[in-house]
Amino acid sequence: MILKTFIEPPIDNNNYLITDEQSKDAALIDCSAVDDDIRRELESQGAKLKYILLTHGHFDHIAGIRPGLTTSLTIPDGENNQEEKPLVVMHKADLGWLEKANQYLSMFGMPPITIPKIDIYVNDGDILKLGNMEIKVIHTPGHTQGGVCYLAENKLFSGDTIFRESVGRCDLEGGNFDQIVDSIENKIFTLPPETMIYPGHGKITSVEWEKEHNRFL
Ligand SMILES: [Zn+2]
Repeated sequence: MILKTFIEPPIDNNNYLITDEQSKDAALIDCSAVDDDIRRELESQGAKLKYILLTHGHFDHIAGIRPGLTTSLTIPDGENNQEEKPLVVMHKADLGWLEKANQYLSMFGMPPITIPKIDIYVNDGDILKLGNMEIKVIHTPGHTQGGVCYLAENKLFSGDTIFRESVGRCDLEGGNFDQIVDSIENKIFTLPPETMIYPGHGKITSVEWEKEHNRFL
């Protein structure tokens, strides 16, 4: 797997681009913005963006999705562009958050977006194929009801469920602290200790480190 991290405004979201080295199929995990760095990286890898994998529906994780995005991330000028589009993936329980995205973006002085259309709704245990790579969906409600983590090759992309020595906030609509603790203890801490965790904000960590140092658990 080729893994690249892009830190995007407005609130330093980590967007992760993962690519299967053989097929050059790529997936972007969360899409806070689409900048030239991501486009250039795809170009230099000769990769095609097959999926946009959303960890949850909060505005700062979806704000970069545009109707014109294609597998090479170029935004076509005309309507006749026949290039394939990446499939947008999310858990259905977070649909309500998409509708609220513009309300939150305006609070941050950000321009409104067209609410993205979800192509694939995922559930716990689903497997997505990215070339030869398998990406497992782990439903981890608590930060939002539709929050999921994506596990690929011993790397867990955790969105806002778990951060280095912290957990996602549970005070927004659909948040539940007992539930996020349950998700982390039963779905994340049961993974091999050497599993690396790539959160939606902040530094990477590991299952082993969080079991010892996470002060919320
Ligand atoms: Zn969030």
